[in-house]
Amino acid sequence: MKKANPKSSIPPSRLDLLEKDKIYDVLVIGGGISGAAIFWDSVLRGLSSVLVEKNDYASGTSQATSKLIHGGLRYLKNAEFALVKESLDERRILAKLTPHSIKPLGFLIPVYDYKNKYVLQVGLTLYDLLSYNKNKDLSSDSMIPPHEFLNRERTISEDPNIPRANLLGSLLYYDYANINPERHTCDFIFSAKRRGGNSFNYVSVTNIEKNNDIYLTTVMDSLTNRSAIIKSKSVVNSAGPWADYIDKMALKRNETQILRSKGIHIVTRNISQKHCSVRITKNKKHLFVIPWRGKTIIGTTDVSFNESPDIFNVTRQDIQNLINEINEYLNFKIEDSDVDYYYGGMRPLVDDSTESKGNTYNLSRKTEITDHKDVGFSGYFTALGGKYTTSRNLAEKVVDKVCDVLGKGLPCTTSTTPLYSGNFSDLPTLIKDLKNRHSKLSDKKAYNLCSRYGSLAYEIAELGRDNLKNTSKPILSSQSEEYYPEEIDYISRLEDVMFLSDFYFRRSGIGNIGKPSSELFRSINSIVGASIKREINKIEINDILQRYEF
Ligand SMILES: Cc1cc2nc3c(=O)[nH]c(=O)nc-3n(C[C@H](O)[C@H](O)[C@H](O)COP(=O)(O)OP(=O)(O)OC[C@H]3O[C@@H](n4cnc5c(N)ncnc54)[C@H](O)[C@@H]3O)c2cc1C
Repeated sequence: MKKANPKSSIPPSRLDLLEKDKIYDVLVIGGGISGAAIFWDSVLRGLSSVLVEKNDYASGTSQATSKLIHGGLRYLKNAEFALVKESLDERRILAKLTPHSIKPLGFLIPVYDYKNKYVLQVGLTLYDLLSYNKNKDLSSDSMIPPHEFLNRERTISEDPNIPRANLLGSLLYYDYANINPERHTCDFIFSAKRRGGNSFNYVSVTNIEKNNDIYLTTVMDSLTNRSAIIKSKSVVNSAGPWADYIDKMALKRNETQILRSKGIHIVTRNISQKHCSVRITKNKKHLFVIPWRGKTIIGTTDVSFNESPDIFNVTRQDIQNLINEINEYLNFKIEDSDVDYYYGGMRPLVDDSTESKGNTYNLSRKTEITDHKDVGFSGYFTALGGKYTTSRNLAEKVVDKVCDVLGKGLPCTTSTTPLYSGNFSDLPTLIKDLKNRHSKLSDKKAYNLCSRYGSLAYEIAELGRDNLKNTSKPILSSQSEEYYPEEIDYISRLEDVMFLSDFYFRRSGIGNIGKPSSELFRSINSIVGASIKREINKIEINDILQRYEF
């Protein structure tokens, strides 16, 4: 895909911002959630850190999730108790650190026979036990209730789309929805930048050499085609599905074996109720029907992907297969015309079992950290994230290892330090306080700003007061979501927006619910253009519009 060139708004080389000849403590490769969490952790510990991402932040696997922060109930079936416990602990920590982005979500699993009912009840009891401290230190709007059995009548009233033949009832349990994971990932990166870290999107690693104990990494800024060498005492490769390519660059041989599995979702008109409705398919896989921003997300798939990760795309056939599959488990048929958006990504999985035989669904989602010191690369680590949910913990473990190499015994504080957007106790109090400070804000606007941006809402509202006297008219989407000129301006100017697609898909999320109306698109583009001080060109506009074609 040809990319528009936003040259006029960027310095000759953003890489000039790096201190010449400085030897950094750590270079983090990849701006997905793993790299973002590692960057944040290392900066919080006081290490000098640089993160580079070859496309936009959160444009890889981290934009492809089911938007869940979850313990992973299904991993109990494989007796992966440690992974489930770790995920449940991390679930609570993320709800504490970023309460505006992580919201409780019910999961309704229909049951059609008694054996299945008892197996699920045992599993869910264990799930509740493993998360005995799930609500510790959380505000009431983030708290998770225990699971319960709903009889047939209640099940049908909770979700009329559940097939009814032989239905006994359902089990209802709770995890969290991560409303905008792309923005959530960026929150980690921008929090670290505020504390002095350097990060660059559209900068790719092209070579890694080791000279004595220093790594010399060549990076290329794709906005200017200029290269630079970053010197660092350690390197963390958190390039997800690209991690084996980076390892080969650094170690000069094939050291890492990654299996890539393709997973896609479709976003449809709203066919869901309050809870996520779960379907167990004939092949014993699960499909989720998830309520989200007035629409429904359906997914996911899990199919081996054996080509280069650089040519990954979602095909019409992928979408059709998913529609056909979900249609077997609904009371009506989803049509092509119901699909407003789709997205997909690759799970980077490590095959350490002899039993998988290419069945990626059953491969473990545990994280993998490889320390390459035994092959002569002390200070070079590969960190593969198995789940979005556990990335903070992955970061803690790998930054502990980096600190060992640097000889610095610096403690990790990420489990107790909120991100810059998470500095508040609970949403109702935040909204009230924002309204006290900005009396002209309507209730709806105060709610929207706080629930989208957490404590960053203060800065956005201040921008609105200073420039627009807090009276700017909202721009309405077809979903009746309101967007405000000051939030568009804030994101565009201050959040490394290089292309229009960065704004729509990975900062505001406005583009992720379906094609914007021409009026909405025009109004927003003119504000983004004014904020980044250049005209939005046709290539960028087409980049966005083609995301809705299939
Ligand atoms: C379909 C699907 C659904 C999922 N759902 C969930 C869920 O609901 N909850 C959950 O907890 N987990 C979920 N996961 C797992 C989760 O998405 C991943 O564990 C997580 O996003 C991995 O993040 P990452 O940062 O390791 O990889 P990525 O997000 O892929 O980041 C790696 C980055 O490295 C960059 N990169 C590559 N090469 C270079 C280079 N040469 N130079 C610089 N940068 C480079 C890439 O551009 C990319 O942005 C899901 C995964 C899939 C595929």
